[in-house]
Amino acid sequence: MHTAAFSALRMTDCVYEAYAVMPEELKEAVLKAQADGFRGLNLTIPHKEKILESGIVNPDRFAEKVGAVNTLLFENDGIYGFNTDAAGALSALKTAGADPAGKNILIIGAGGAARSISFLFGELGNSVRIINRTAEKAERLAAEIAKKTENRNVSGGDFSTGWEDSAQADIIIQTTELGMGKYEDVSFFDQLERPAGKTKDEMIQARLKDKVVAFDIVYNPWETKFLNDVKKAEKAGAKTLNGVMMLVYQGALAFEIWTGQKPDVAVMEKAVLKGLERKE
Ligand code: NAP
Repeated sequence: MHTAAFSALRMTDCVYEAYAVMPEELKEAVLKAQADGFRGLNLTIPHKEKILESGIVNPDRFAEKVGAVNTLLFENDGIYGFNTDAAGALSALKTAGADPAGKNILIIGAGGAARSISFLFGELGNSVRIINRTAEKAERLAAEIAKKTENRNVSGGDFSTGWEDSAQADIIIQTTELGMGKYEDVSFFDQLERPAGKTKDEMIQARLKDKVVAFDIVYNPWETKFLNDVKKAEKAGAKTLNGVMMLVYQGALAFEIWTGQKPDVAVMEKAVLKGLERKE
């Protein structure tokens, strides 16, 4: 998507390349990229948090709060760090007509992606509920966000309250690996206990708000079991959204940080869809 954006802006001397870097080589690899004349780079799992421990990056206010960066910018006076994942998720929601202002947000998962998204909504003053397979992680994350953002309406727990939490939520954001790889046939709703005699679809129908927004940040597969479940239950006015536009917008923001130019998001989206072999 970056290559496509460079082409569209006739920035023919720019390249975006992928490098595999082991955790123990991270600091040296970043310094080498800077020495080699790169303008910046993206970091992914497991480097987003680790790079801050190296002490060579100055994170911006939001990235510092989150404790993770996905974008670095090399300047003469230092290396600057940003986290564009959460802003990417926010843009994806807004573009899909799901403005989260003042909405109750349920985040499923408490990993790296959940962390940055939950921090953003904590900062924006939303009511945020984080539930995770491992309860302690969600509880710890919620407590940290509540403290750092001074938002008391942030709480965490495990999946045991999943149906009640779903019933309260205007926007449900699925950030776990459920629905992909070896969990391709599993939805978050499959992890919740049901009263005897109730089917999953009946529970979804009864427990989700009519105009719920179901956002799965996974984009491969295109439609996870979670999104499929919400669609199948025919919720009145429910909106479903996969992770493609979050990926595109976090990339577009990084592009702007490096180049100072706004890329054509449609061009980037098209390149991603091509990579995923999607026609639409
Ligand atoms: P991560 O830090 O490894 O977190 C993984 C999360 O998945 C944890 O909450 C983990 O729960 C949960 N999980 C894993 N297996 C599970 C299972 N069998 N049942 C229930 N929960 C399970 O990963 P991440 O960086 O947050 O990324 C998560 C997903 O988001 C990945 O699929 C990634 O591709 C996607 N992502 C998309 C974008 C985008 O731009 N669209 C950006 C970033 C990430 P425990 O804590 O209990 O282990």
